[in-house]
Amino acid sequence: MHEFSLVQSLLDQVESIRLAERAERVLSIRVNVGEFSGVEPDLVRDAFDMLVEATPTQGAELDIITTPLKARCRDCGGEFYVEHFFFECPTCYSRDIMVIQGEGVILETVELELDS
Ligand SMILES: [Zn+2]
Repeated sequence: MHEFSLVQSLLDQVESIRLAERAERVLSIRVNVGEFSGVEPDLVRDAFDMLVEATPTQGAELDIITTPLKARCRDCGGEFYVEHFFFECPTCYSRDIMVIQGEGVILETVELELDS
């Protein structure tokens, strides 16, 4: 399943951050899931619950936020949110647009418990 390998690589990132910071525990993780990433936030949560077991990240709070799909028109330079996957510039009606936000899945923040 796509979500499993995705979550595994997120957990790998979290672990390398934890090691780099020499933190005992991971308190929370915030993941940004793009609306157009093809990733289902519920499945990310399920995969996280399974994969996090017996890792140093276990017990961390998972916060998933979703980012709407945003695009820029190559003709007029306007930026707009794409609704219902309708890829047309609302200003000049061009279809020559590029997605600038909402495509990927990003590890946004990792909150660590540091030794004092
Ligand atoms: Zn335009």
